[in-house]
Amino acid sequence: MQVYADHAATTPMSSSAFKTMCSYLRDNYGNPSGVHSLSQNARMAMEDARTGIASAIGATKNELFFTSNGSEADNWAIKSAAELMKEKGKHVITSSIEHHAVLSTCKYLEERGYEVTYLPVDANGQVSVDSLKEAMRKDTILVSVMMANNEVGTIQPIKELASVAKEGGALFHTDAVQAIGHLSVGVNELGVDMLSMSGHKFGGPKGIGALYIRRELKLPPLIHGGGQERGRRAGTENVAAILAMAAALEDSLDRLDEKVERLRKMRDRLIAGVIKIDGSVLTGHPCERLPGLASFVFEGIEGESAVLMLDYRGIQTSTGSACSTGSLEASHVLRAMGIPNGLAHGSIRFSLGAENTEEQIDHILVQTPLVVERLRSLPPLCTCGRK
Ligand SMILES: *Cc1c(COP(=O)(O)O)cnc(C)c1O
Repeated sequence: MQVYADHAATTPMSSSAFKTMCSYLRDNYGNPSGVHSLSQNARMAMEDARTGIASAIGATKNELFFTSNGSEADNWAIKSAAELMKEKGKHVITSSIEHHAVLSTCKYLEERGYEVTYLPVDANGQVSVDSLKEAMRKDTILVSVMMANNEVGTIQPIKELASVAKEGGALFHTDAVQAIGHLSVGVNELGVDMLSMSGHKFGGPKGIGALYIRRELKLPPLIHGGGQERGRRAGTENVAAILAMAAALEDSLDRLDEKVERLRKMRDRLIAGVIKIDGSVLTGHPCERLPGLASFVFEGIEGESAVLMLDYRGIQTSTGSACSTGSLEASHVLRAMGIPNGLAHGSIRFSLGAENTEEQIDHILVQTPLVVERLRSLPPLCTCGRK
């Protein structure tokens, strides 16, 4: 049996996304900037897609800008907001558990004279609203906190955090890459100024993303060139991927409540079964977590070996630790949550999607204890987990 349980890394494309993509790659290939009918057809279809995606998050079409992925959307939001606001100050606040697309961009700003505060998280991986209040200063220009974490699935109190940022006169950005298509998200209700998304995390193709930018915010471009995306993001638009992303979002939001309910049930059965294994701990928030994500640490094993051994048994998962890259550092997310280094090296993340079945959960629940037991009986492949 094959079980793909790595949807937080990437998802299979939905069938309507795939069909749409093929048609716009092959038949409707016009450049949307052109004048003739093939171009105009592409342009109209693309603008419909923009309207569809924007309205799915409660935005208007003029507030949605296509990018080539989630990482670009994060880079754009953070670098350009820092540039735009530099007269007011050079202090940025983020969390210690962000995706590297945010963390490395903040490091880049630090090298250029900005100061960055990395908010701590509690043992469940949540940022406290009070810690943001304490960190806010007169010169704070931007706060960036992710909506849902990609390693442990913890959901952050974005609405409360955004309101603290706003009171302090700072802009608020959220990396919502793990949330869009999986939770219902409304930019106005949350009060965020910028929001990043990525197509391949909700059934769209890889290499397409979007940044929501609140209308009043005149965010300068990251990519300079032609006048595409109303002069804010140059480069011929990836029309086929944009349309496929829109189709995928429509698919994933169709009867979302039912899907969430079904995923949650499978996830909770998975959690209940896995935590019966000796020396296993659920990581992340017990209830404020993504509906399909279950992540654990196991004493005395290396996550990477477990991922390989599970793969051999037909189950695809991920780990936060990577011995093969030669890095002795365990996941920054697990360490920020106070999980000891040795234990953090034994992490496994199962992330479920719409096509997973109860039978597949059974398969995971049979194989995982066997893999953990087997690994504990073997000498370690690398020593980092045993420190
Ligand atoms: C996957 C991911 C990204 C990066 O998105 P890409 O489209 O792969 O560049 C950013 N943030 C989070 C939380 C993610 O899970």
